[in-house]
Amino acid sequence: DRKAKIDTSKCVECGSCRSACPFGAIDERSNIVQIIQAIRAGQRVHALLAPSFIGQMGFKVTPPQIVTALKKMGFAAIEEVAVGADMTALHETKEFMEKVPARQKYMTNSCCPAFVALIQKHLPNEADKVSTTVSPMVACGRYVKSEYPEAVTVFIGPCIAKKGEARKFSDAIDYVLTFEELACMMAGAEIDPATLASESYINQASGFGISFPLLKGVQGALNHTLEELEETQVQAHYASGLEACLDDMKKLASGKLPCQYFEGMACVNGCIDGPGALAESGLVSVLIKKYASESQHKTVHGDTTAVKAVKKVDMEVR
Ligand code: SF4
Ligand code: SF4
Repeated sequence: DRKAKIDTSKCVECGSCRSACPFGAIDERSNIVQIIQAIRAGQRVHALLAPSFIGQMGFKVTPPQIVTALKKMGFAAIEEVAVGADMTALHETKEFMEKVPARQKYMTNSCCPAFVALIQKHLPNEADKVSTTVSPMVACGRYVKSEYPEAVTVFIGPCIAKKGEARKFSDAIDYVLTFEELACMMAGAEIDPATLASESYINQASGFGISFPLLKGVQGALNHTLEELEETQVQAHYASGLEACLDDMKKLASGKLPCQYFEGMACVNGCIDGPGALAESGLVSVLIKKYASESQHKTVHGDTTAVKAVKKVDMEVR
C-alpha cells in the first residue's frame, strides 16, 4: 500500500531517518505542548541541559544567556547534565574496576541509547558487556527528583534516541526536547537569548563532564577517574556512527580488537552531531573545549556536586 513501516525489531531509534528524509515525513512525538501546559499550570519544571548546549542558539550566545532565556520561558531551575556525566563517570569507573577483567574481558558505555539498542538487537550475545550504570540524563533526572520530588524534569539535547530512553526511565525524566524544539519554543515565546543580559551563573560540573559529548569524551573521564583512584589507565577504543560501532564491536567480540573499554556513539562525530542539534559540530566542539577549560572543577573526584549526588542517587539501570 506504499506506506513505509519501521521494523522495530531492528530499529535503534537513532533518528537518522528523520534527518535524512527529504520530505520531512518522519518525526518523533513532541512534548512541547505538555511542557507548556506544565509551566502554565505552575508546576516546578526543571530544564536539564545536555553538555552540547553550548553554541546551539548561536555561537555568540553564552551559557548564562541560555539560562536567562529558559527562566523567562518559565522553567523554575536549570541543571547542566554535565553534572550527571560526572556522576556517570564516577559510578561507571567503580563498575569497571569491579568487573574487568575479573568477571568479563571488556565493558562498553551505556550513555548512548541507540548504541545500547544496537548491541541488544544486533549483537545480543554481547549485551551483558554493556555497563549497568545509568546515563548522565537519567543520573541528573534522578538527582533532581531526589532533591525536589514534585519536579517535572525536561531533558534538552541533540538526541532523538533520548526520547525512547526517557520512556524507559520515567522515574527520572518526564519529557525530552531537542535543541531544534527548544528553538521553536523560544521563537514562539518571542525570546531571543542573544539580546538578553548574562546573569551571574556558575556551572557545577567538571571539565571532564562538560567534555562527554566530544570525541573520546567518556573514556577521557573514565581514564582520568581511574588514574585518580587506582593510578592506572584503561585500554579504550572509540567508535562513532552505527556502522563503525557494529563493525568494531564484532571485531572485539571475536577477539580481533584489543580493548578493555569500548566507547560507542551512534551518531557520526558523537552527540555534537545528534539529529536534534542546530549548530555545526566543529564549532560546538571548539566552544565546549573552551567552556570545559574554564570550569572551576579540574577533577571529577574532587569537591563537586556529582560526588555528593552520586551518594544519594541509585545509579544502576533498573
Ligand atoms: S534505526 Fe535509526 S534510521 Fe533506522 S528506522 Fe530506526 S531511527 Fe530510523
Ligand atoms: S551519539 Fe549522542 S546524540 Fe547520537 S544517538 Fe547517541 S546519545 Fe543520542
